Amino acid sequence: MELKLYDTLTREKRVFEPLDPANVRMYVCGPTVYDFAHIGNARPVIVFDVLFRLLRHLYGADHVTYVRNITDVDDKINARAAERNITIQKLTDETYRDFKDDVAALGCLDPTHEPRATQYIRRPDSKVDMVTLIERLVRSENAYCAEDHVLFHVPSMPDYGKLSRRSLDEMIAGARVEVAPYKRNPMDFVLWKPSDQQKSNLELPAWRSPCGINMPGRPGWHIECSAMSGSILGETFDIHGGGIDLLFPHHENEIAQSRCAFHTPVMANFWMHNGFLQVEGEKMAKSEGNFVTIRDVLHSWNGRTWPGAAVRWAMLQTHYREPIDWSLTHLSQSADEILRFLNLLRGYHRNSSGKVDIERIASAIDAARPSDAVVAALCDDLNTSRAITAIRAARMKRTRELAVQVARDLIFLGVLKQSDILYYSTFHGVESDVAEKNIVTSIATDYQMARANGDLTFAGALVTKLKDRGLRIIENETSSITISTGFEEQSFDETVRAQIALRSAARARKDWKEADRIRDELLAMGVRLKDNPDGTSTPEIAR
Ligand SMILES: [Zn+2]
Repeated sequence: MELKLYDTLTREKRVFEPLDPANVRMYVCGPTVYDFAHIGNARPVIVFDVLFRLLRHLYGADHVTYVRNITDVDDKINARAAERNITIQKLTDETYRDFKDDVAALGCLDPTHEPRATQYIRRPDSKVDMVTLIERLVRSENAYCAEDHVLFHVPSMPDYGKLSRRSLDEMIAGARVEVAPYKRNPMDFVLWKPSDQQKSNLELPAWRSPCGINMPGRPGWHIECSAMSGSILGETFDIHGGGIDLLFPHHENEIAQSRCAFHTPVMANFWMHNGFLQVEGEKMAKSEGNFVTIRDVLHSWNGRTWPGAAVRWAMLQTHYREPIDWSLTHLSQSADEILRFLNLLRGYHRNSSGKVDIERIASAIDAARPSDAVVAALCDDLNTSRAITAIRAARMKRTRELAVQVARDLIFLGVLKQSDILYYSTFHGVESDVAEKNIVTSIATDYQMARANGDLTFAGALVTKLKDRGLRIIENETSSITISTGFEEQSFDETVRAQIALRSAARARKDWKEADRIRDELLAMGVRLKDNPDGTSTPEIAR
């Protein structure tokens, strides 16, 4: 099937032909790791994950290289580490782990490479790193040194501004250009800056400077993407993506650096940008009080825990280039729609005793292929709204085959995960002897959603919350749990015993992944396993 993508640089939708079909190469600007990512940050991660999945489908999973960088050197990071009184390393490691957990709950695959900027400042094993690029640019007179800085000289590149198509005046206003006496031109941007500890009360990260500058320093932001894409993907590659807010100056500057350093006519053959996100019709800002992080939504937003699948489904209903309005109503409708669909799917797959046969669901989905209508819609510049219309039309027919087809398509879009099929459900009632029924019901529903999101830590915290009320969660079967005051002790023990038996079997066949999964599952139920030397395991109540 022919793939067409819209290229921001040429302002046209054209047929995508990879430079090398055996290795389709995509670079997307990733997060600056100093705080939880907000839902606006989630949009490019989801959009380019859909593209990654489509490219893997079209060219083969082993023939696509997706690079998403991690910005771990930035003045915001220095300030936040100082504020929290922790090291920069601890802050960036922690934030990166949180980001990974959040986007996994949103159904995003790991990119092929996630390079950290600090690993590409000087990199002896690669011809391309930030320092070599900077030195090349100085040699070719596209950059110059001034007062321990290295600056890119914008007038040295005649094509500068072609991506954003702005006038010089607009660019100066848009870049909030910092006027500095050492700049030859107000548009010139920083490639390298001094880390002058005398002039700063913050701890500044510092590396040996390029171009014989004595003062140790650190890179400006833009150069990292030229270095990491150049090192991993090469001087020219297929697709460069990011949010529309990065169009200028960041992407304009990336192009200037890479093209002038490598003497190439283009940096990437396609430039793709996703539209803005606003919240309930307003621009999202901390000062507006409408700032929403992905973590907020996954844990507690407007009084409940939201499944990542619903967040993704809500986002994909708008074409990626259009602005998106994030609203509670829309998210709530999306959550209900996925739930109704999962109930239908499970309804078609019950065994003779009425229990959901999860293995039969899994093998039916495995046997299916993504539908032509969905693939065709995505091949038309990632038209996810058209793909969704096709999925809804199939679901409306309410047949068992089409329910499986829809599940396959939702998995293809990254909306459904295995854990959603298992746990994405609403808890309805608690036993008659349980007090504070409403609170308990809502904790139990949050627990189901935490499990659907694969967030065992949060699920564990909810188990503790119930334990504090003298209650236990018992997972009876797929998407069904019981809340008990403890009179069900026997059946809880039985559940644990059955899980231990399953885990022993997994360990016997050396399926460590499954064994670990069961161990984590038990931990979420409040049970820690102690492995004995003889191969058996003893359960202990985790505290
Ligand atoms: Zn970038």
